[in-house]
Amino acid sequence: MHHAGASRYRQRARQPVNAVIGRETLPICPRPLPGEAFRSRLCRVGAAYGMNAEELLTSLSLKSERDRLEQADLVGLSRVTRIPIIQLVELAKPPDRWTLPNGPGVAVCLKCLADDLRNKIRPHLRRVWQQAWYVFCAEHGDRLQLVPSHLIFPRYRTQLTPAGLDRINRSLGATGAPRSVNDAGIRRAIWITQEAISAALSGRPPHAPTWGILSANEFLTIIQDISCWALSNFEDRAAYPPIYSPPPGLPGADTPLFARKRRPVPPRRPGRSVRTLADVVNPAARCAALWWAYGLAADAEPATGLRPESEPRQIIFIDPLLAEGMAWLRLRMEQWPEAYVRYRWEAFARSQRLPARSSKRARSHN
Ligand SMILES: [Zn+2]
Repeated sequence: MHHAGASRYRQRARQPVNAVIGRETLPICPRPLPGEAFRSRLCRVGAAYGMNAEELLTSLSLKSERDRLEQADLVGLSRVTRIPIIQLVELAKPPDRWTLPNGPGVAVCLKCLADDLRNKIRPHLRRVWQQAWYVFCAEHGDRLQLVPSHLIFPRYRTQLTPAGLDRINRSLGATGAPRSVNDAGIRRAIWITQEAISAALSGRPPHAPTWGILSANEFLTIIQDISCWALSNFEDRAAYPPIYSPPPGLPGADTPLFARKRRPVPPRRPGRSVRTLADVVNPAARCAALWWAYGLAADAEPATGLRPESEPRQIIFIDPLLAEGMAWLRLRMEQWPEAYVRYRWEAFARSQRLPARSSKRARSHN
């Protein structure tokens, strides 16, 4: 429940919007900032009227209560905000397999938000933070943090304040938290993976000595498959997916970069497929998934603290107990280029004596 003062404030604040419905444009409509995300843009417009993004669009009848932000009437939105339709279409592109959905939690770089405040720019979400492969801020090198979007866009004030940002920092325990000394290698491995995905999405094939000879698309498929495997529970009982179980002996595996083990993930619901990077907003979980992709598929650079060749690692790292997940990965591997699998995954494929389609039986061999 909001207290009475806030609700009176909100009613007052709503009047201007109600008054302009049917008119051509909103009287107060802040301009877009460079690289700003759709939700952020709408939240800043809504803040002038005491509303969040969803409430603004619903009150202007630009979307129904149930619709997602991306499903808003963009032509109407363009009219009331005077933002050219082409810009809105670009901003509101429906999420693809590398884009996080617009939800109540957002991934942010707290240092970027602090920079906004320092530079007297409105704190805003960057579009790149919504990319499922983007876990480290390119500018600050910090891992992104998962924050409820209402903390960044307080409804009854116009914007995030330095005190508000301090509160977020404190609640995340980020202020002055000592960085684990051992996590430099893990950090490096994830960073290389993030860079390679970013390049591949713009059509550049990955660095062949590291990843093998692959086209950009083949590389993206392989990363999607390994990260799905790492994020999903394939067992028919509650279990921890690989992102919560760093391989034995990995230095710095207790790194705060990875998501903490809380409770096991329930078994997969019927009809619900695996979890992809784009299904998981929490950067800590995506970080671990990207690390697994590097750990299994890359010939490692010494700075990552891993043995150079990927093949022996694949066998040591993969937990033999997670048989269902293994069977799934073996099946996916059939879509990968044959020469690549033969060259990079041969020992692993041979070590998985289990026939891909009857892993139940295979488990009893262990
Ligand atoms: Zn940053």
